[in-house]
Amino acid sequence: MKIDGACHCGTIRIEGEADPEKTQICHCTDCQTGTGSAFRVSVPVSGAAFRMTGEPTSYLKTTAESGNPRVQAFCPRCGSPIYSTTPGEHPRPSYTVRVGILSQRDQFVPKRQNWSRSAQSWVTAMAGIHKNEKQG
Ligand SMILES: [Zn+2]
Ligand SMILES: [Zn+2]
Repeated sequence: MKIDGACHCGTIRIEGEADPEKTQICHCTDCQTGTGSAFRVSVPVSGAAFRMTGEPTSYLKTTAESGNPRVQAFCPRCGSPIYSTTPGEHPRPSYTVRVGILSQRDQFVPKRQNWSRSAQSWVTAMAGIHKNEKQG
């Protein structure tokens, strides 16, 4: 399906096509640090369909667990994570786009959880955490 999204401040905008069935959660410790949260939710977007306005900042991170170098791109102004990809020239074969920046984020329900061994224990028990409909 067609997707579009933007970072929190609107400097970076993306468009592309993604299959909601390929939505994944990553619980690895790099994703915990890189998001400042408990896990990351991403979906692959082919390079052929990927369009972007604005220029993200990026850094190369070789993950301790998998050993694969990945380019991590984020907004230089607001810091929103945008995507990761393999190092190389644009356009790259695939971009792993962060679902939280998509307008269609509610339609990308994760189908798989990777690196579950480093998942924070409470993520499987969130239904039991006290809820406030708005800020508590
Ligand atoms: Zn931004
Ligand atoms: Zn990860």
